Amino acid sequence: MTEMKKILVLPGDGIGPEIVAEALKVLDCLKSDFGLEVETEQGLVGGAAYDETGQPLPEETLERARAADAVLLGAVGGHKWESLDIAVRPEKGLLGLRAGLNLFANLRPAILYPQLAEASTLKPEVVAGLDIMIVRELTGGIYFGQPRGVRTLEDGEREGFNTLVYRESEIRRIGKVAFEIAAKRDGRVCSVDKANVLECTELWREVMTDLGRHHPDVELSHMYVDNAAMQLVRAPKQFDVMVTTNMFGDILSDAAAMLTGSIGMLPSASLNENGQGMYEPIHGSAPDIAGQGVANPLATILSVAMMLRYSFDQGALADRIETAVGAVLDQGLRTPDIMQDGKRQVGTAEMGDAVVAALGSD
Ligand code: NAD
Repeated sequence: MTEMKKILVLPGDGIGPEIVAEALKVLDCLKSDFGLEVETEQGLVGGAAYDETGQPLPEETLERARAADAVLLGAVGGHKWESLDIAVRPEKGLLGLRAGLNLFANLRPAILYPQLAEASTLKPEVVAGLDIMIVRELTGGIYFGQPRGVRTLEDGEREGFNTLVYRESEIRRIGKVAFEIAAKRDGRVCSVDKANVLECTELWREVMTDLGRHHPDVELSHMYVDNAAMQLVRAPKQFDVMVTTNMFGDILSDAAAMLTGSIGMLPSASLNENGQGMYEPIHGSAPDIAGQGVANPLATILSVAMMLRYSFDQGALADRIETAVGAVLDQGLRTPDIMQDGKRQVGTAEMGDAVVAALGSD
């Protein structure tokens, strides 16, 4: 890395501040012991921001996010803000960051550490060692397409409608992300569509096929979304990288996350065209356990690993974090959400400290 990278840290609500504190310990260790050149500053988002400023995403936070090389986010939301008008709910802060930074590529790994294979509802042999990367288009498709709404027809009946729309350039840029990631992994992309029914995804398939011609190093396959859902629960280890539309990705990535059975373990990244990214655990603010010191910090720590890999081009340090997480699981340390017989239960801070200790041991 040639220049100092800047990270905007947004702890958010609920368990957010607790888990982010552990991720910062990891970053501090990488700075002091491994020469990582980053500086961090903290900002407000979500309910915490609403309480201070009346907005879940203050303009200042968005501006600082734009100026940063990456954003590390804990989680937002909680019962306290549920009765607020939808325009100022904490979750709006997240959506505003995604839109404001143009984060079109959502990367959701579904990894099941072999040590936790028993946590899945599927048979251990089906899921142990699972390592899928779902690349979901995040700023287009039916969630944003116009026209949309509910109208009253001439006969007085109401009709709801949404529009599935993708420009070729939008398909191409998300496809490119998927191919580039696959080239650094097992070299396989499965593009998920519904090209037998939806013209828009017929175009999706055409564009992906064309991209495939330009990436001879990557093996491209296509799958209809209904089959993909079935295959994910039948034989998930057949997948390396899956790339798909906003809505299909929303559904498939949650199903894939559940294959692992441990929501506290899964990181995510959302990237824009400049490689700038927002990194966060996939779970929410867990108000039921907030403030108890029992939340699992590993998803947030693994989000830092993704940040190093995808925004800072520091693959070796990212590997080091992931290896350290594997090592603490091997030591038998477990937060309550992943607790198993015969293992040692630890709290949030002890888990973070154990990862930091493992970072240094080769
Ligand atoms: P949640 O993910 O917060 O919690 C679901 C369950 O998983 C809870 O039992 C919780 O205790 C547990 N859990 C989650 N993360 C954990 C961790 N790190 N360690 C141990 N256990 C963990 O989902 P929810 O309860 O549906 O939502 C709570 C709030 O979070 C809501 O306000 C929701 O809108 C918000 N939310 C935010 C995000 C985000 O910030 N990205 C995502 C989802 C939900």
